[in-house]
Amino acid sequence: MIKINENYKKLQASYLFSDIAKRVAAFQKENPDKEVIKMGIGDVTLPLADVCLKAFHKGVDDLADKTTFKGYGPEQGYDFLRSAIAEHDFQSRGADISADEIFVSDGAKCDTGNFQELFAPDAVIAVPDPVYPVYVDTNVMAGRSGDFVNGRYSKFIYLDSTEANNYVPDLPAQKADVIYLCFPNNPTGATATKEQLKKWVDYAKANKSLILFDAAYECFIRNPELPKSIFEIPGADEVAVEFRSFSKTAGFTGVRCGFTVVPKKCTVYDADGNPASLHAMWNRRHTTKFNGASYPVQCAAAACYTPEGQAQIKEKTDYYLGNAALIKKAFVELGYSCTGGDNSPYVWVNTRTDSWKFFDTLLHECGIVCTPGSGFGSCGQGYVRFSAFNSRENTQKAMDKLVKFLK
Ligand code: PLP
Repeated sequence: MIKINENYKKLQASYLFSDIAKRVAAFQKENPDKEVIKMGIGDVTLPLADVCLKAFHKGVDDLADKTTFKGYGPEQGYDFLRSAIAEHDFQSRGADISADEIFVSDGAKCDTGNFQELFAPDAVIAVPDPVYPVYVDTNVMAGRSGDFVNGRYSKFIYLDSTEANNYVPDLPAQKADVIYLCFPNNPTGATATKEQLKKWVDYAKANKSLILFDAAYECFIRNPELPKSIFEIPGADEVAVEFRSFSKTAGFTGVRCGFTVVPKKCTVYDADGNPASLHAMWNRRHTTKFNGASYPVQCAAAACYTPEGQAQIKEKTDYYLGNAALIKKAFVELGYSCTGGDNSPYVWVNTRTDSWKFFDTLLHECGIVCTPGSGFGSCGQGYVRFSAFNSRENTQKAMDKLVKFLK
């Protein structure tokens, strides 16, 4: 008899996106002539940048010639990509990160989900609320959650992100071993300043904790004062790991490429309190369980760092930010309190009512689909998330309808 991992029974079925799909399908069945504009999803809509496509094709052509053919590559990624990342994303911003601290992967979902494998089963985990659910569910699977009682797992520390703290959580009173932070945030769209991140770095140093910093949306930051990487905070390289993705940066959601930065200075501890190298542990895990992102994909990712690549991918993220600005403007003018949208593709709106009630009203009255915030955690109740990943025409049309109805 094969016994299962009992922790899987503690996972809460995520009905969020299937519930949305069901309600939209029912509405469309009843109203076949009504147009529906979907502003709920977090997937890109624009095609790949030309420079990435050319590099992608060239990478494929290399495989057709025996002098340039590639078999297994280095598990951590090709040096041409790791060096470009270290130079452009970190060293250019004063962060002392070297190419051998970059681990290229097939995206940030796997890395944010897998990283917790390195920690003890009784490590105390702190997660934001509202949250990108991967951080929560992977720690539930690993047995660190305790029971689910009144909407929360008993052993997690929840970092409430609310209007009162500008969606940047306060330090917890308890000691957390592993802290997940995400800025610009999914779902709130909030950003954190250097001073705010420094508080977390100081906390992690004082408590010998580790920060897992998810920067999947850094490409939307336009305010030059805001940090794009936690490694812009002095000393963060001793207590933080950073996850990045080409998904939103360069439209790679279907192509699949991301990376994780594990600084060599990052120290963790064994059961007897002896220091251990986190870099060595992740290297061991990564090389044991992963055989490298595909060569043409890494060629396409590296093309993002050429001058044309930088200009082309910025044009696309600017386009989404233009949509986000339209969404934000509409809600601000209507008198709703909202966050995000400036340095983020998400706008998080306080609906002053129940999340699902607002969702249903917008669907039925305007044919607009958003994401109910309650699906991201209890602090999301009363909020909805609007995504800027859409066409300008649809975004404008949706906001015109919405303003007319809500005014
Ligand atoms: N982290 C956050 C906060 C996300 O919202 C997403 C995707 O939506 C990811 C990570 C995963 O990105 P990837 O496509 O690289 O797996």
